[in-house]
Amino acid sequence: MGTADTDLADRPARSFRAAVSPSQWKLWNQRPGLIAYCLLIETAAAGATANAVCTEHFSGRDLLVFGLLTGCGLLQAELGREVERLRLISGTPHINLTSVWSFAGVLVLPSALVTGLVAVLYAYLAVRSPYRARRISAFRVVFNAALVIVTCQAAAAVLSRTVTPNLDDALRAGWTGFGSLALATAAYFVIAALITVPGLNAPDRSLRTLFGSWGDNLLEAATLCLGLMTALAVTTMAELALCVLPPLLVIHRAVLVKQLEIAATTDEKTGLFNTTGWHTLAGRELDRAQRAASSFGVLMVDLDRFKRINDEHGHLSGDAVLRAVAAAISGAVRDYDSVGRFGGEEFVVLLPDIHRTDVRVVAERVRQAVERLAVEVPALNGRRTIDGLSASIGIATYPESGSAIDRLVHAADQALYTAKNTGRNKVVSSADLG
Ligand code: GH3
Ligand code: MG
Ligand code: MG
Repeated sequence: MGTADTDLADRPARSFRAAVSPSQWKLWNQRPGLIAYCLLIETAAAGATANAVCTEHFSGRDLLVFGLLTGCGLLQAELGREVERLRLISGTPHINLTSVWSFAGVLVLPSALVTGLVAVLYAYLAVRSPYRARRISAFRVVFNAALVIVTCQAAAAVLSRTVTPNLDDALRAGWTGFGSLALATAAYFVIAALITVPGLNAPDRSLRTLFGSWGDNLLEAATLCLGLMTALAVTTMAELALCVLPPLLVIHRAVLVKQLEIAATTDEKTGLFNTTGWHTLAGRELDRAQRAASSFGVLMVDLDRFKRINDEHGHLSGDAVLRAVAAAISGAVRDYDSVGRFGGEEFVVLLPDIHRTDVRVVAERVRQAVERLAVEVPALNGRRTIDGLSASIGIATYPESGSAIDRLVHAADQALYTAKNTGRNKVVSSADLG
């Protein structure tokens, strides 16, 4: 057996040894705030579960429902493994569909069994999904499971304080019962979002991370609705939980398709549109502008002497600068302008519905935003700041510079070329070239 094979064969044993010896936990390598937050959430999850174990009694039916929900969760994870693998590779934001089972558990199971359900599903995900296990350390798996357990316990606590404190009461109470269930669903949704954010790494903590995109929210809401339906099915006939599997697997596939679509049009390094994505949008804008007889602008932005940044600070620092420039350009334009990266250190901006004279104003704003940038990058002895950046910008406008996207891009590129050849760090319009 070769070294690589030995290494692979040893991996599970090594992972197990690392997991059972606390001194080797990757948790201790995290920032202090995250360590404290992990321990807080895990203590809360363990405390709530211990309290539930001491105060609740389970019936045989509870155990049957627990077994069915857990079995369905495992089956869904197993049947959806290939889809999940592709979702992870495509690298776009990841929403876990297991909340169908955990939320159904909140509505029909004693709290201690809900913890059991979440623990089994997350243990399965950690062990059975090799791609996932390789990328996500054990402490993250435990932390994620603890977050779900706390969310479940909190949603159950909210439901128990409403006028109809459980599913059976709610089903008999008409709109009042509907209100209680809606409140429990909303509590699950909001608490899950709120308690996840402090555990994210600093650059990820934006409003968008907190609330996600419309698509993410819709998926999360659909998952919770299916959880509610599962709970209803289970109260009439426990075995009906199996009927939720096919629609859930179809949703899973639909999510993958959407994710691949996003990945195919997004530049991985900066999160901006890639060439394909930008051209698709530009084509649509051209159609719209032709119909409405309106105008739009195109900016080609190229960083000046960027090769020097790579040579002086290294390629990784160069990448950090590219990300900062991407954010600066996006910040300098309107929300409905589309910023793309055409590869390398070349960016392109589509400015819909704008007058020719205003395009230059925006281009100048972009140029100044790049000039003002100070990007902090890691260095051997701490951190260092890269500043003194500049960009040259070429402008083209529809319809003056051309009536096809390729023609407009070419015109903006020629203007950019002139900007480079006449001193850099400036804006040149194709109209100036005559
Ligand atoms: P100019 O002012 O004429 O545009 O000079 P420049 O150095 O910016 O232009 P040139 O085209 O000669 O070099 C572009 C450099 O961009 C070369 C390449 O190493 C670097 N580059 C291209 N793609 C990436 C990337 O994804 N990451 C990093 N860090 N550097 C990149
Ligand atoms: Mg350049
Ligand atoms: Mg270039």
